Order: sequence, then structure tokens, then C-alpha cells
Amino acid sequence: MQISWINKFSMIDYPGEISCIVFTPGCNFRCGFCHNSEFVLAEKLKYVYKNLIYEKAFFNFLEQRKWLLTWVSICGWEPTLQNDLIEFCEKVKSMWFLLKLDTNGRDPDKVRQLLERWLVDYIAMDIKNEIWKFGISAWIKLDEKPYLESIDIILNSDIDYEFRTTVIKWVHNKSTIENICKHIFGAKNYYLQNYKSWNNLDNNFVWESFNLYELEDFRNIWIKYVQSVWIRN
Ligand code: SF4
Repeated sequence: MQISWINKFSMIDYPGEISCIVFTPGCNFRCGFCHNSEFVLAEKLKYVYKNLIYEKAFFNFLEQRKWLLTWVSICGWEPTLQNDLIEFCEKVKSMWFLLKLDTNGRDPDKVRQLLERWLVDYIAMDIKNEIWKFGISAWIKLDEKPYLESIDIILNSDIDYEFRTTVIKWVHNKSTIENICKHIFGAKNYYLQNYKSWNNLDNNFVWESFNLYELEDFRNIWIKYVQSVWIRN
């Protein structure tokens, strides 16, 4: 699997547990508010592809840190773009690590296979916007069906999961939020991640955060539809 970066130690990616985070290059989205255009845009990716980390080096690192780490997180940009994601997860699980996957939901077949084969222990799916506006947030033309299918698969799975939205002024409002909630009706956990503006893919637009009072106000809408709503500020 292509590995662009490793965060060797994290206590926040899976709260209460010590994890390492594996980043894979490339994303099918082009969100203007993305902080990591160097790992998303093709012209910048050329440099990233020249400096990939060998999978063998990663597994050597894991072997040495078995005593310390509990979880391995696989984050994107978008990991399901990796053809050998499932084989990679098999190797991680064969070393008895717990595994968390972050995805935007683009590939429901991979999500299903990972769940059916018990290769993931936690999935975090980003929901950029209400589904019919996904293309607007992600700046690409897309078919919404796979994203809805991924939501359905995760909602009906037996593992722990979260859905999350990075909330931004002028992109989200009460109505968009309520519609997102309808897509994930009954979900165990929903996280509102407050947006922080830095190193945006599109610097021509002023991307603004909500204040905490406004987020709390949104939480009141969400709580009608899902079991728990959390704010990450
Ligand atoms: S899905 Fe995430 S990584 Fe991909 S462009 Fe959007 S913000 Fe960036």
C-alpha cells in the first residue's frame, strides 16, 4: 500500500488508546477547505509519490512498537483508493492490532469486505454535506449512491463507528445539518468538527468557523436524529 506519512504516536486519534496513524496519498474529492492540498492535487502529488514510505519499513516499525501501541489508524486523504487496502489491513490484524479506518465512503464494496472479514474495529466516515450537495462541497461531479450505500453498511454493522462533519460557515446551515442527520438516522455517534482555517486548497474563498454557541445550537437539531452528538472544537 502507498504510505505517504506515519504519525508514530497519537493519543487523540482513538481517545484513551495509543495509536499510530498511517496516511495514504491522493483523494477523489477536491474540497476547497482541505488543509492538505499537497496530498490531494495531482501536480503536488508527484513529489509525494517520489517519497513514499516502504510498507516493509512500516511493518518493522509496528513490530518494534507492539509493546506500546494498541491501535493502527489508516487515514486519508482517502485510503479506499488503495488497491491493496484489504491485504494491508490483513497484515495489521495478523499482528493483533486494533484497526481504525477513516473514509469519505466512496467505495462501499471495500467497506463491506473489511467488515465481513472483521478487518476493522472502528470506522469514521466523513459526511461533507447533505448527500445531494456532496459534489458542491467536494468540488467534483459525483454519483451519490455509493456514499449512501456506505452509510447504510456502517449503520448496520456490529462495530463501533462515527460519522462526522467538518462544519463551515456559508457551507452548512441548520437546514443542511438537519438533512445530513436524516441520512444517518439512528447513528450511534455523530461528531461536529469545528473548522479551522489554514493552508486551504482554495485560498480565494474566506472559510469561516462557527462559534461554540452556534455549534451547540446545531447539536440541538442533531440530537433528535442520532443517539449521541459530540463537538470537536
Ligand atoms: S475529502 Fe478530506 S482529504 Fe479529500 S479533499 Fe476533502 S478534506 Fe481533503
